[in-house]
Amino acid sequence: MLSKTMQDALNEQINKELYSAYLYLSMSAYFESLSMPGSAKWMRAQHDEEHTHANKIFDYVNDRGGRVVLKAIDAPQVEFKSPLAAWEMVLEHERKVTASIHKLYELALAEKDYATQAMLKWFIDEQVEEEKNAMLMVERFKQAGDNPATLLILDAHFTKRDDE
Ligand code: MG
Repeated sequence: MLSKTMQDALNEQINKELYSAYLYLSMSAYFESLSMPGSAKWMRAQHDEEHTHANKIFDYVNDRGGRVVLKAIDAPQVEFKSPLAAWEMVLEHERKVTASIHKLYELALAEKDYATQAMLKWFIDEQVEEEKNAMLMVERFKQAGDNPATLLILDAHFTKRDDE
């Protein structure tokens, strides 16, 4: 059985993963508005992935006899200064998510909750991947600068994601 503190913390994390999904869906809409279908598709796939993260924790709380409590999801930002600014926000956001996962892990350690530690290991590894991908995108967009032609060529590369 999950402790009440752990249950509440996991419910918070479900909300954070759903907010991440919402933020990336908003970024997908932003890239659509710029006629950058590659980046829009990448963000849409990222949105789907964040839902699987939320569902993983959702299932885990239920498997441990806990109670999932869903909360309001904050409205995401709609406009971004530039494609680069959006990717920089992705990186910054994923770093916050990593810190949040690490805090959950520290709580699981303090409570000697071994099952939650094991479940969170997957998320710790996943965050390494998320930050790596975001850093790569930031670098690519920095290199592209603000030349529209270069941005469109770069965007065309994202019509296919590596994990497809
Ligand atoms: Mg996530």
